[in-house]
Amino acid sequence: MTNGTSPDLLNEWDRNHQIHPWAAMDAWQESDYHPIESAEGIYLWDADGKRYIDGPGGMWCVNIGYGRKDMAAAIAEQVIRLPYTSPWTTTTDPSTILAKKIADLAPGDLNNVFFTTGGSTAVDTALRTMHFMNNALGRPDKKIVIAREKGYHGSTYLASTVTGKERDKSRFDVEKRLVRFLPDVNPYKRPDGMSVEDWCDAKVADLEDMIAEVGPDKIGAFIAEPILCSGGVIIPPEGYHKRTLEICRKHDILYISDEVVTAFGRLGHWFASEDVFGIVPDIITCAKGLTSGYLPLGACIISDSVMERMTGPDENVLFSNGYTYSAHPVCCVAALKNIEIMEEERILEHTRAITPHFQSRLHALEKFPIVGDLRGMGLLGCIEGRPDTPGTSLAAERKLGALLDEACDKRGLLVRPLINMAVFSPPLIITEAQVDEMFVLLEDALEEVTAQMASD
Ligand code: PMP
Repeated sequence: MTNGTSPDLLNEWDRNHQIHPWAAMDAWQESDYHPIESAEGIYLWDADGKRYIDGPGGMWCVNIGYGRKDMAAAIAEQVIRLPYTSPWTTTTDPSTILAKKIADLAPGDLNNVFFTTGGSTAVDTALRTMHFMNNALGRPDKKIVIAREKGYHGSTYLASTVTGKERDKSRFDVEKRLVRFLPDVNPYKRPDGMSVEDWCDAKVADLEDMIAEVGPDKIGAFIAEPILCSGGVIIPPEGYHKRTLEICRKHDILYISDEVVTAFGRLGHWFASEDVFGIVPDIITCAKGLTSGYLPLGACIISDSVMERMTGPDENVLFSNGYTYSAHPVCCVAALKNIEIMEEERILEHTRAITPHFQSRLHALEKFPIVGDLRGMGLLGCIEGRPDTPGTSLAAERKLGALLDEACDKRGLLVRPLINMAVFSPPLIITEAQVDEMFVLLEDALEEVTAQMASD
């Protein structure tokens, strides 16, 4: 594929011509990105032949692991048979069968599937659905979205508008009048001496207060990730999900559960909303694990009751939301094969079985004084640096993510650094021995970072 182009020249082309997502603009055209050449299972190999464990599983997405020849065969067959057809007036078996399959797996009356190109476009579709429904119901003012600090929902204009991570919109414009943010729900950030139960009451009260302040007739939706993953694997206190859903129902506010990370196995279930947190939302967005990252695809799953409120007697009203690649047949085949592999190889059962070992190895890192909090669920984990580690400077503590990233990289482990945190979501097929391999490298890296921080 590279036609013998030298690594140095490729690097030059990459710097000069490719705009990478989340590029650091102060180092524009200076950063070197790590060229990865191949992958198998939970491992990646770079251009020098060095092997890495993929700690973040791509971007929380490579659930069945890399290098599946059966995925390649299914995808190739569909490319040869029918690579594309317009979603205007035609349909294909893969998209029809996938829609039925997702409807069967999704909770409650979430039976209606709109295919998108990824997570951001699924979130965009969910929010536009809320606009459409409220316009159809003759309540055009009921459009404000309640979202949460540290929430991440994507990079389109609307999805970034409801994203609560400041860094992600520092120089971009967003539609501020469309959204209100609730403060951090992270139990780790609760005041000293406050119980988790009281924290939950306070967080639920934040939502109630916001609704009272803005007015329920102005609020169209509440959007929430079951676990705020990109915000640092923040797990809201127990009972929070059910109580916030009840409040939304009381005020006829749509509850959008953004399961872009948590659906398709990350917590050992197809969907976390119902099976893990006991709620049936009005809309679920998903992507990532739907195809295990083999091809881009997302879905916005809408309940029957919302659909009923969107359809009416008016003629010539189109649901004018669509993409050239909506319901792309090759991507739908990749999703179907991915789900088939997960079913045949009992990957959800495996995830549930391996979770206690993964979580106990994660929590064993508390022996490192530089670690402030360890949290996780299923095959999701986060290490957060201690804010007041004795003998360390604030600057170094802020860099914990970067230092850990560097130390892990040297040892052949990729992690995802986030300021003073590092997050993990390895492929779900990881074995117990591989979990150990990963944590041996991590502990070794933490030793090095501890020494570095002490001498900083
Ligand atoms: N929602 C959540 C919860 C996500 O984690 C992400 C991506 N990290 C998105 C939406 C956006 O998905 P995509 O990058 O596929 O557009």
